[in-house]
Amino acid sequence: MKKNIKDLDHKKLKELVQSMGQPAYRADQIFGWLARGIISFDEMKNVPAGLVRALSEEFNTGAFDPLKVQISHTDGTRKYLFELYDGNAVESVFMKYKYGNTVCVSSQAGCRMGCRFCASTLSGLCRNLTPGEMYEQILAAERDTEEKVNHVVIMGSGEPFDNYDNVAAFINIINNPKGLGIGMRNITVSTCGIIPYIERFSHDFPQVNLAISLHAATDKERSEIMPVNRKYPLKQLIQACRKYTEETSRRVTFEYTLVKDVNDSDKNAQTLAGLLHGMLCHVNLIPLNKVEETGLDTSPRQRAERFCELLESKGINATIRRELGDDIDGACGQLRLKVKAGQ
Ligand code: SAH
Repeated sequence: MKKNIKDLDHKKLKELVQSMGQPAYRADQIFGWLARGIISFDEMKNVPAGLVRALSEEFNTGAFDPLKVQISHTDGTRKYLFELYDGNAVESVFMKYKYGNTVCVSSQAGCRMGCRFCASTLSGLCRNLTPGEMYEQILAAERDTEEKVNHVVIMGSGEPFDNYDNVAAFINIINNPKGLGIGMRNITVSTCGIIPYIERFSHDFPQVNLAISLHAATDKERSEIMPVNRKYPLKQLIQACRKYTEETSRRVTFEYTLVKDVNDSDKNAQTLAGLLHGMLCHVNLIPLNKVEETGLDTSPRQRAERFCELLESKGINATIRRELGDDIDGACGQLRLKVKAGQ
């Protein structure tokens, strides 16, 4: 089985070409070609044939094309299902915003966090994705749309802090100006709150945006919908977030998915406002994308608006997320689930 060359960051690629008796600048060339989305090593026009041959004996380019693409007719959002070399499948989403194109990347096939409302976790974790498999999701979207991607959110299936080292390597690869050169400030990592990694992340990547999936403001309620809360309860989580904002002077985004009659009451909003009082943060209210299997429902629009107003009236910055791609199974893991079930 050949190795995926996209798993190598620039430093490792340089060491590789040097070990093959080639000058270091060949690594710049190869890294650059990979970032342009080549499918075959033969496309690297300025790399000597001997080196191309040697590379292709040991490596593959890790390129994959979507098994399925769903295109939203309302906003141009594209949702991809990619099949990996071992038959696992992951989803990515391409979204157009005023400020540029964003790809939502999956970090794991499946997930073991068990959040009640989420489709990705329904059949547990299959495996971690490698840095190259995360990287390729962006490149495949660029090939398909013929557009450049300038923002990346690691908010697809999986828990990035359950696959920290590979996610860290991926961030470094896409940030490198010799490749895609996506600015650290244009990258967002979303976590369900694995506290030790929040600290590590703030040291390793002080400029990358941090989003925390909160979804409830008391331990009792949060543990019911997010099992991770039993291990990393709210008080410690919020403490870690406050520390993060103090150390990085950057705001934290809290994601709060509104589930009808579960976490969307006025009282829930007030408790949430109390919990976040005085913190440099923003609350992103997400209308639940209904996943049949969970039996949970979306809050009515009016409820979402009232919830948002209540937070604002208490001095908490909040917005309701625009629902992109809601005509194409926008929620995590839905497309993968449907294909698995043969629909
Ligand atoms: N594991 C990470 C990143 C993946 S989930 C995390 O928990 O943050 C990305 C976001 O989508 C999270 O905020 C998650 O709670 C939310 N989400 C999952 N399923 C959803 C659904 N059915 N509707 C709306 N948001 C959902």
